[in-house]
Amino acid sequence: MSDCIFCKIAAGDLPSEIVYQDDRVVAFKDIRPVAPIHILIIPRKHIPDLTAITEEDAELIGYLHLVAVKVAQEQGLADRGFRLVNNCKQEGGQVIYHLHYHLLGGRQMRNLC
Ligand code: 5GP
Ligand code: ZN
Repeated sequence: MSDCIFCKIAAGDLPSEIVYQDDRVVAFKDIRPVAPIHILIIPRKHIPDLTAITEEDAELIGYLHLVAVKVAQEQGLADRGFRLVNNCKQEGGQVIYHLHYHLLGGRQMRNLC
């Protein structure tokens, strides 16, 4: 998607602090962190939101979770714990319509509101 900022970040056409990337998944620091560690994990494939995944994406979504754990380990969060969040569509608080998971850590998380 040519007008998607996360596609542009994944392609290297927009600057970001990438902490992990391979042929399917990219992880980069959130520009407005809400925790000491706040990393966004995205598939390179443009999927607008979680409701748009299909059977064909099942392996990719599973793999994205493996990458999330790998990044969490690299960030020193594996033992402390962390939060992995997907905001889906308007009432879920989604702003960027390219599927992404927030990896949040480095502080005590509170109950969800
Ligand atoms: P959402 O609300 O869609 O789940 O989260 C979008 C996230 O993307 C927000 O936490 C926001 O700070 C982050 N974000 C928006 N634009 C950019 C950008 O250009 N670069 C980076 N690194 N993060 C961004
Ligand atoms: Zn995109």
